[in-house]
Amino acid sequence: MSREVDNALRRLEASQEIYDNYVETAENVEKLYKTYEEFHNLLKGQETEVIEVSEFLSADPRYYNIPADYRVLSNAIDVYNRKPIYLSKHEPPGTTIVLLNALYHIFNNWGDWRECNIIIGTDASYRPHGRVEKINDHTFLIILGRYLVSDTFILSAAIYELIFDIRSESQAEISFVEAFSEQNFEKVLPKSVHAFQLPYMIAQILSGDRLRIGARFRDETLQKKLQYAISLQTTMIVFLISHELAHIYFDHFDRDDPNAEIFEHFIRGMMSDDTFYADYEGELNHYFSKVFPRHSSEISADLEALRVAGNVGVDLFNNKYPGLAGAFIFLQLISALDKLNFYRAYGTDVFEHIDKFSFNRNLLAADIIVPFRNHPWGRTRVTIVSNIYKAYPIWQGGPQRSEDAQTFEVNTLQNVISGAHFLIDYNLQGALDVLARVLSRGGEISVHLTGDLTRIMHYASKDSESFVYTCPTVRLLSGSWCYYGRFSDVYGEGSPI
Ligand SMILES: [Zn+2]
Repeated sequence: MSREVDNALRRLEASQEIYDNYVETAENVEKLYKTYEEFHNLLKGQETEVIEVSEFLSADPRYYNIPADYRVLSNAIDVYNRKPIYLSKHEPPGTTIVLLNALYHIFNNWGDWRECNIIIGTDASYRPHGRVEKINDHTFLIILGRYLVSDTFILSAAIYELIFDIRSESQAEISFVEAFSEQNFEKVLPKSVHAFQLPYMIAQILSGDRLRIGARFRDETLQKKLQYAISLQTTMIVFLISHELAHIYFDHFDRDDPNAEIFEHFIRGMMSDDTFYADYEGELNHYFSKVFPRHSSEISADLEALRVAGNVGVDLFNNKYPGLAGAFIFLQLISALDKLNFYRAYGTDVFEHIDKFSFNRNLLAADIIVPFRNHPWGRTRVTIVSNIYKAYPIWQGGPQRSEDAQTFEVNTLQNVISGAHFLIDYNLQGALDVLARVLSRGGEISVHLTGDLTRIMHYASKDSESFVYTCPTVRLLSGSWCYYGRFSDVYGEGSPI
């Protein structure tokens, strides 16, 4: 390992230590890190068998909820031993497995990046949800939001249950893509338990350790269909990591984005009848000359990441559209998290600064009135990326039209995009309400969402030590997932709100 790789790793580990010491006692941090290190050593062993990793994970209730089957664990061992990847020794087993499995699929589809040293890890920050730093010409540090990596699993499981509902209600055999449309979700979601759960699932990604939920899934999902949910989550994380790799691929550190001109032309075309702006030319010229060069890089990275997610969809589902669905759900999620994050940072809903209609309908409105420096608002990003992708369904580092397939491609993509939009948007106000409750209290909250629409909340006071990890985490016989412990033993009965 070179000195530079080593230094970058130490920096990542130091930032993880600060957070872990914040939520944990020093003694517990030490214990955790010891287990993490054993886990990494096991995964990296040349002779390690899947069964050993599986036994390691099942020996500790904390790891019962890690979404991993034989295939995922085998991919993780394989890629960790084959490629120049460096993980922090403080990376928890759950995110380690998710990251390595996604990298395995990315390398299978996008060359093996052998000439690059990739240092990768998660920390507790959300914004930016992911970032990449150039350490030297062939060494890069990628840091991703920890809860974005871990909590997308229960989101995927919930979405997959909705797809089962749609399939079981329909008379004919319907494919994933046919099921995955706004109209179908509109029929099943409002009467499903997931209308109650999804707002919590979205809010907890932003809240991190402040809000942990246990959500109930059906036995059928837990026993037989888990692989689908794991695969859908994999496409989301593939999208997240590929976005960062695309910044390396385009060398966005040292060069302007090669697609900026195409995008500017395209976006101006999308805005040609927009009457929202007071000084249309002035505001737009300012945006395109001063802000857009950065934003253009983000759009290029998203398009490249979509291409990879579609290819991984073919590996996992024999069809690129489930891969694209995962990527578009993820983009919609980023858009939702931007809005929640604005609330967390400024204490107001962004709709108080810019009305809902303009925010949703006027492209760039949010970026001009309440701009973020590095990334476009998620809402703008998803609109631009969706439209460009529909115009150029085959994107290979730049625009390529596929004339023959175009009508089919565009219709199918439209289905996927509107389904992803509905799934997240329908739950966004609920997620904002949940976040507002979390922020109005000190300390951490654990919520158990049952299958019969009741909710049990447990609060820990701000100064109670080691809330998350010292509570016994169990996988309930009823099939609940994630961090649900017998908190009443420790903190007394929680008061429902
Ligand atoms: Zn980016």
